[in-house]
Amino acid sequence: MTPLEILLLILCLGLAIGCLLQGRRRSSPASPGSEADRASVLESVLEGLGDSCLLLNSNHDIAFANHETLDLFRVTGDLRGRPLASLISDERILQFIRRLDASGAKWAEEEFRSPIVRGNLADERFLVVSAAPVQLSGDAPGRYLRVVIRDETDRHETEQIRKDFVANASHELRTPLSIINGYLENLLEGDIDDPAMSRKALITMQKHGERIARIVEDMLTLSKFESVGEKGIAGLRAASFSCRECAEDVIERLAPLVEEKRARFRLHFPPDGADEIKGDRFYWDQIFFNLIENALKENKPGNLEIAVTMAREDAASVIRIADNGIGIPRADLPFIFKRFYRVAKHHSQKIKGTGLGLSIVRRAVESHGGTISVDSTLGLETVFTIRLPDYLPDPEPQPAAPAD
Ligand code: ADP
Repeated sequence: MTPLEILLLILCLGLAIGCLLQGRRRSSPASPGSEADRASVLESVLEGLGDSCLLLNSNHDIAFANHETLDLFRVTGDLRGRPLASLISDERILQFIRRLDASGAKWAEEEFRSPIVRGNLADERFLVVSAAPVQLSGDAPGRYLRVVIRDETDRHETEQIRKDFVANASHELRTPLSIINGYLENLLEGDIDDPAMSRKALITMQKHGERIARIVEDMLTLSKFESVGEKGIAGLRAASFSCRECAEDVIERLAPLVEEKRARFRLHFPPDGADEIKGDRFYWDQIFFNLIENALKENKPGNLEIAVTMAREDAASVIRIADNGIGIPRADLPFIFKRFYRVAKHHSQKIKGTGLGLSIVRRAVESHGGTISVDSTLGLETVFTIRLPDYLPDPEPQPAAPAD
């Protein structure tokens, strides 16, 4: 809540709270400018604030609570007259309010990571609670406490993701950079005069330079997808295109790796143009590239088979990319879409990758309103399944359907 809103809230409370506390008990019709009018103005202001607002009497019973309060604590009915402790179970928040009341302070604010119990489940929320005493006149004069509870869970989570991302990115970049710096130092200290040592240093530096470039490129792609993704499907350049063609183009681009791994491909798509999907082709190139490249690079040559298939199921296109390779351990499966996560232990450390590929894929799929999941059995197969619903915007206007 902004300071202006707080000011407005206090002003309105002073004018009309008495009427609210009485439940608008006046029997005569409201005349313009009457207390009833002002109470309804106040009510609409309080309901529109987007934060939970409560007014407590001197016993800390609820004298008023707006709708946000009901939504936040997942309760129904009239809260008036109920003790605050029956709504808020977190003793730290109750103590904070009691302390403020006893201290005579004008205002206080504190942040709480607090469980909100909904049925049998406790959902942890990040709450910013502020409280201030208010002196009311009118029908119910006296000293009250105004409590505003702002649910900042989403903002907090986004902030945490951003912090993790910066920390992970710096960590990932630091290793190749310090290797390059180490070799540079050795060169300056004399290795430069030894052609064999110079060559070794340059080759290693080039390899790590390429790795930095790859990480930065993936980070830029992810960041682009995230900023476009915020606008949802509207942020995409959606058009119809053949899913089969997109997959075939990617396989062609990956020809050297396909050859190196001696991989066989099995493509299965619906015929007669039914393999068309609507979406941003640039995103789908990334999706197919990252998934097919993973299926190739993570697995050893010899008998490697990769299936890329598409089927229509329940008003959705279901696209699967499956390989019969090394597989992913069950314990790693929940994490592989996380940024920078790599199942390094059972694979060769030499496999090129940034751990960002699958984050990019998931982001791109979700931007299209789709979902992606993975299933894998060690030593047997890995299957990525994309489910893309049919409700993307139509690129071309469709003829009106005939009336029934
Ligand atoms: P990277 O850029 O390292 O490939 P990804 O996010 O694309 O990162 O993948 C994360 C991890 O998931 C990889 O490091 C790899 O260990 C594992 N992985 C992804 N696809 C496969 C697959 N088809 N087979 C086995 N492991 C895979």
